[in-house]
Amino acid sequence: MLPVVALVGRPNVGKSTLFNRLTQSRDALVADFPGLTRDRQYGQGRYDNYQFIVVDTGGIHGKEEGLDLLMAKQSLQAIDEADVVLFLVDARDGISAADEFIADYLRKQDKPVYLTANKIDGLDGDAAAADFFSLGLGDVYQIAAAHGRGVSQLLRTVLLPL
Ligand code: GDP
Ligand code: MG
Repeated sequence: MLPVVALVGRPNVGKSTLFNRLTQSRDALVADFPGLTRDRQYGQGRYDNYQFIVVDTGGIHGKEEGLDLLMAKQSLQAIDEADVVLFLVDARDGISAADEFIADYLRKQDKPVYLTANKIDGLDGDAAAADFFSLGLGDVYQIAAAHGRGVSQLLRTVLLPL
């Protein structure tokens, strides 16, 4: 059985961009507006020498209704099914109420979580990442999913213990 890695975070942080990079596909829709990925999406992750299943999710912001609520429930189910969770946040936007909502949920789960600040291209990565320590999930990994920066290093950290 391949390990299952779930990509979780509020809409627009770059989950689908990372999914596409990890699966070397363009299956997941990437868009400039939030919430395009409405349900769970599975793919086979191949990156460097690693193999795993990766699950893209629609995103959670914590005040969902209607279709968004369905999307959030799917995301929670993906967390449940995963061996490990990559919790993505947006290094450009800094911490948001939605990030805090998700962090609260993840801290209550008995599951390895890797807090990952995406979109660090063109930023002072350490300064941007420091903002997220207050989420109480430990180290903040720095990546630029669109360019691949930091992704191998993150995968090594995430997959080695599994
Ligand atoms: P999702 O809603 O979390 O799935 O986010 P998407 O993958 O659809 O990406 C949302 C937006 O962020 C798109 O405009 C992406 O091009 C952009 N984006 C994703 N990753 C990066 C990155 O590493 N750097 C920058 N600058 N933009 C990114
Ligand atoms: Mg998406």
